[in-house]
Amino acid sequence: MTPREVLALCREREIKAVDLRFMDFPGMQKHFTVPMQALTEESFEDGFGFDGSSIRGWKAINEADMLLIPVPESAMVDPFMQSTLALYCNIHDPVTGEEYAKDPRNVARKAENYMKSTGLADAAFFGIEAEFFLFDGVRFEQNEHEGYYHIDSSEGQWNRGREGAAGNAGYSIRYKEGYFPVPPADTLQDIRTEMMLTLMDCGVEVESQHHEVASGGQCEIDMKYQPLVNMADNLLLYKYVVKNVAARHGKTATFMPKPIWNDNGSGMHIHLSLWKNDEPLFAGSGYAGLSPVAMYAMGGILKHAPALLAFCSPTTNSYKRLVPGFEAPVNLAYSSQNRSAAIRIPVYSPSPAKKRFEFRCPDPSSNGYLAVSAMLMAALDGIQNKIDPGPPLDKDIYDMQADELETVAKTPRSLEESLNALRDDHEFLLRGDVFTEDVIDTWIWYKTEHEVEALRARPHPFEFAMYYDV
Ligand code: GLN
Ligand code: MG
Ligand code: MG
Ligand code: MG
Repeated sequence: MTPREVLALCREREIKAVDLRFMDFPGMQKHFTVPMQALTEESFEDGFGFDGSSIRGWKAINEADMLLIPVPESAMVDPFMQSTLALYCNIHDPVTGEEYAKDPRNVARKAENYMKSTGLADAAFFGIEAEFFLFDGVRFEQNEHEGYYHIDSSEGQWNRGREGAAGNAGYSIRYKEGYFPVPPADTLQDIRTEMMLTLMDCGVEVESQHHEVASGGQCEIDMKYQPLVNMADNLLLYKYVVKNVAARHGKTATFMPKPIWNDNGSGMHIHLSLWKNDEPLFAGSGYAGLSPVAMYAMGGILKHAPALLAFCSPTTNSYKRLVPGFEAPVNLAYSSQNRSAAIRIPVYSPSPAKKRFEFRCPDPSSNGYLAVSAMLMAALDGIQNKIDPGPPLDKDIYDMQADELETVAKTPRSLEESLNALRDDHEFLLRGDVFTEDVIDTWIWYKTEHEVEALRARPHPFEFAMYYDV
């Protein structure tokens, strides 16, 4: 869509307001609105000013002016706002005129360009499966067993973590049996369909929607694969649609990776395939039908996984998901069969065009732009340096003996560990100026100060259960 076509769409749909959107540094969507009359063809070059110092992790107060430059191709009539057109924007510095290095969308655009400049591939397709929970709400108060929070849900969470013990109170989903019973046990069917149809109205191609494994309220809607920036844009829209449809129904959606102890968490598996001259580079005759290029790409991701997780599993809560027993990876290995490995190669189809692998560590608390960019950079590093991913792990890793397991590298156990790994290993992210030193430093600083240390300083609800009566 050109600027002129955007303006024509506005007239045709009787648009009265234009909503300008971008993503902040940690990964929350931001917006402000101008009247329709303020949007002209020139706006797509001159942009709209805002105060960058009030955005988390961005400019200092003395250098705060920033510009939003709308992206015409992103134009969409907003399904939740009155007569409003939404536009995603790139962030520019009005003084230098340059694109802002800490704009996550800019990082993603640079990652895509860098890939093309290497000549290794001319297209990268990403498919994202972002899981989430729908709850009636969260109350923060004293709870007799676990302390201070309580999740309200009509979806049967009371049953959680009590395998066999509590039984089933008539059509509520049993512990870990959420994959995927029909209604009336699945009470969220129509809400998910509404989410799916709304996404499709917004131009997103959707493959399916279903209830997920956790005993109640866990959902997944799968979007069709797209090039990197489009996929990350779609993920932003996905969260927006999921949260707003949930709100219409008096529910809240959460993408936090592990809202419920002792039940499945929410992952954000990322599928990747690389292409050149319309040929799929990952299809071959090696393990699970993969090519050497695919093996090296996996080698790069596994080698850099501890650092990558600072972007792909980027919250303190992420590491409560990466524990054994819940289909989340705990070991850094690959396999075609095994959902307990960090990388899985789906074998649903022998078609070379469908050959891809799935990185299972990421979760939906990620900033999608940064997570997919970092993953691509690790894969490219693997290809450039012919990094061997080692042998596949075709056993259920959860069932392996302790001595056998010792030889397999582990996912980091905390956000702090991942941030330390990123501090030591980020050369591969700096290539092509995709992630700058400033982006890496700011990320480590922000996550350490605002999340790791902030949590460390607070008494935890479970500490009351363990220590109140010591
Ligand atoms: N919820 C699981 C995870 O944390 C994935 C389950 C699945 O999609 N099979 O990654
Ligand atoms: Mg899935
Ligand atoms: Mg799933
Ligand atoms: Mg998956």
